[in-house]
Amino acid sequence: MNYEIDDIIVKLFKKTILIILNYNKQICSEQLDLIQRKKLSIALNDNKFRTTYVKYDKIHFNLSFLKYMWAMIYTLFNFSHKIQKLESTNKWDGNALALPGAHNIFFMKKWANILKMNNIPWFENYPSPDAEDEESKVSNTTFHFAIAFIYFHEYSHIVLEHKSSVTESVLLAQEKEADINALSIMISENDDDYKKRSIGKGICLSMIIQLFIIDEIAMISSKTHPDIDHRIYNALDYLNIKERYPSEYMKRLVSLGCNFFIIENDYKLKVQRHENSDSLNESIMQFFDDIKKELSDYKK
Ligand SMILES: [Zn+2]
Repeated sequence: MNYEIDDIIVKLFKKTILIILNYNKQICSEQLDLIQRKKLSIALNDNKFRTTYVKYDKIHFNLSFLKYMWAMIYTLFNFSHKIQKLESTNKWDGNALALPGAHNIFFMKKWANILKMNNIPWFENYPSPDAEDEESKVSNTTFHFAIAFIYFHEYSHIVLEHKSSVTESVLLAQEKEADINALSIMISENDDDYKKRSIGKGICLSMIIQLFIIDEIAMISSKTHPDIDHRIYNALDYLNIKERYPSEYMKRLVSLGCNFFIIENDYKLKVQRHENSDSLNESIMQFFDDIKKELSDYKK
């Protein structure tokens, strides 16, 4: 066991910052002026687990949160990727525990769960951002885009001068606006479908991981934030990937990520086989809608 992972994650995070800075080219000059005037900066702390927040024009990231994000990205990316690989050769039998690398996938998930409560050491011989295998490398790239999206979401609240003491409906509108502004910075019309997929993987997973961060499913919808499932599917639509293969890949990544969450919460929806990814995602959206309806009926 070791704590070296902190240094490894900090190194990875520094690379993310370079990627964020590189996006400055896509930012309109008005917004750039504003962040320079406000001296907007990024801070990193090693306090207790906390999601990203803004204070005094600083966007604060938390080390445990970054480790959690990497572990969750590793889990969900590999879960989806391995299943899709088996599906392509018709070998997927629905048994997630028999997936190649299942041990690492589920270990990282458990480790992430504990990280939310305790800063625990990383275990040697387990996946790590400085490992050379393909799974870890793709997880790193996906991590950069996931964290960049979280950054640009918070950044958007600042440059769009959003207010916190406003009505619930204004808060909701601001959240949607922050997502759209962040998406428009990170995704360009001119990006080819494979580039969109690579960036989109990070964006969609960052939102799917929100499902795992909330403590109870009731928090999936609130009056001040868009429903998490709506955010995920809006982002998927925004990508607008046309080519069949990358488009199917993304739809399946999203459905499997949501599916993982649903199964983990013990709801009755099995890991479904790949017949038609559109109808599969419709059934997942329907599932979330049913749960939300059930919860709102319960509250009455
Ligand atoms: Zn927000």
